[in-house]
Amino acid sequence: MPIYVYKCEECGEVFEHLIIRSTDKPKCSKCGSENLKKLPTTFGVKMGSSSSTGSCPTGTCPLG
Ligand SMILES: [Zn+2]
Repeated sequence: MPIYVYKCEECGEVFEHLIIRSTDKPKCSKCGSENLKKLPTTFGVKMGSSSSTGSCPTGTCPLG
């Protein structure tokens, strides 16, 4: 289930919304407005903590 990040055009609140059904209409968690702008999903992803250089987490995998 994808999580989207929305920014409220009314009050500027930014929040994440889990889409369970494609018909789901998110509302601002602060003011309840449906006037929202969808932001790139990466906005809500943790950044700067990954130091992995490949698919192998330890660097010792034979196929890594
Ligand atoms: Zn709002």
